[in-house]
Amino acid sequence: MSTDQPSGLLLVVSGPSGVGKTTIVHRMQERLGGRFSVSATTRPRSSEEVDGQDYYFVTSGEFDRMQRGGEFLEWAEVFGRHAYGTPRRPVEAALEKGELIILDIDVQGARQVRHAMPSAFMIFILPPGEDELMRRLQSRGRDDQDAIERRFAEAQHEIRQATEVKLYDAFVINDDLERAVDETCKLVSDRRGQTTSSTPPSP
Ligand code: ADP
Ligand code: 5GP
Repeated sequence: MSTDQPSGLLLVVSGPSGVGKTTIVHRMQERLGGRFSVSATTRPRSSEEVDGQDYYFVTSGEFDRMQRGGEFLEWAEVFGRHAYGTPRRPVEAALEKGELIILDIDVQGARQVRHAMPSAFMIFILPPGEDELMRRLQSRGRDDQDAIERRFAEAQHEIRQATEVKLYDAFVINDDLERAVDETCKLVSDRRGQTTSSTPPSP
């Protein structure tokens, strides 16, 4: 085992917007436990989102200060518009405690994490098809039509990038949710050397 990650598991989950990352990660946490890494972003908060829970919503000035202070494990400008970054300290603290820590980040961020922590485990979630991805983006009811179109266009690019670079350890197609959650949990459990369980771990 490499010395950068003495215990615990750093799990990166990537995939186009609307593919079902958040849904899968929450369902996986119900079964396997683990901690979700809350990113900082300059993107505006939508009405359903909670500051400090979904993201830390910060100004560009605050983000720049954090970035210059070396507070991010990785950061990127996503869709060329807003900055997103993973606070380094909570990730390191979780790994020191032997926990599972889960990052929902894009391909640019995953590349930086692979460099900083080579033993991270990385999964890319794929949609079953383009029409279904568009339907899910709309069903979230979070973005206006412009943002949906932009996210949809970006999805093609992100999928191409992810499949061309040898960065991800596994690809999971989120067709049937239960099946995709099963597959993701099995991949993570196998990586941690545990048996898969469909029931939550006892307290
Ligand atoms: P992401 O975090 O990747 O942007 P979300 O988890 O927010 O995506 O999911 C986008 C939408 O798709 C949500 O409305 C969610 O309920 C729905 N969804 C997720 N997985 C599935 C699935 N397998 N089948 C149908 N709908 C799904
Ligand atoms: P959204 O705006 O839909 O919440 O997220 C848009 C994209 O930003 C998603 O692909 C998500 O994975 C990515 N993202 C969220 N947080 C981070 C982060 O901290 N770093 C990077 N690089 N990408 C992030």
